[in-house]
Amino acid sequence: MKTIETIHELRTALKSRRQGTIGFVPTMGYLHQGHLSLVERAKQECDTVVMSIFVNPLQFGPGEDLDRYPRDLKRDQALAEAAGVDFLFHPSVSEMYPTEPLTQVHVEKVTERLCGASRPGHFAGVATVVTKLFHIVAPDRAYFGMKDAQQVAVIEQMVHDLHFPVTIVPCPTVREPDGLALSSRNVYLSPEEREQALVINRTLREVEQKWTQEQFTSADELAQFVRERIQTAPLADIDYAEVLTYPRLEKPGAAWKEQRLIVAVAVRFGKTRLIDNVLLDGRGEKSCSEQ
Ligand code: AMP
Repeated sequence: MKTIETIHELRTALKSRRQGTIGFVPTMGYLHQGHLSLVERAKQECDTVVMSIFVNPLQFGPGEDLDRYPRDLKRDQALAEAAGVDFLFHPSVSEMYPTEPLTQVHVEKVTERLCGASRPGHFAGVATVVTKLFHIVAPDRAYFGMKDAQQVAVIEQMVHDLHFPVTIVPCPTVREPDGLALSSRNVYLSPEEREQALVINRTLREVEQKWTQEQFTSADELAQFVRERIQTAPLADIDYAEVLTYPRLEKPGAAWKEQRLIVAVAVRFGKTRLIDNVLLDGRGEKSCSEQ
């Protein structure tokens, strides 16, 4: 595996790889099995795998955790190499933003709710950096985790609207054995917060089961159920708990049971904000296999 820090060097290195397919896994580093599952999938489907590690300042709001976001390049290099990454792109902030960026990509509607509402400017930062990375790497396929389901919806919309020649591959959420969704931010959790954070997965699994048994009479009732369950954990501070259509992320209408729904939550435990979700296929038959 080669670690590359400049755009020019990466473009040059990838030139000779373009007869085959290029798979791309964008990340902010501090790698865990969730990231590595994306690499595994990319390895299966592509000849060359590029991973980026870049903590993108543009997607962090004032007062968010940009400065204390966990970083460990040496560890990440070892994990990425063992997983079979061919090129690790690790640019500096000044390499990615040599001057103040006056151009940003704004995706409308799908960014209005959930994390788009509680983190203003976040998805413009994400869409902009992913656009830049797509222009730099020019991948055939790019791999994203469904833990960030709104991010997948935003990127798919952007790729569709702007005719990016790339296939977006959504991949299932990887969890700890006790159900907590893997996240680089989990290291912030105190043992007590870590224990109480399990309420999120427990609630989502309960939702899946009740959905299959058709126990909810409305989307509002479902959302209320989720809020009440999560609030049973004393340290849980709910940022949002919503039921929306997926991937448009709109309020479900009268035919809510026929629509593909997402139950999405963001919950603070102390200073740590965790997100998770479950997709429910229409008609209450079963949960979505991607989850
Ligand atoms: P991040 O480094 O948090 O920006 O994540 C980089 C990529 O890894 C994104 O596509 C995430 O959705 C994905 N990812 C993060 N956590 C998980 C997880 N637990 N399971 C699957 N994919 C994940």
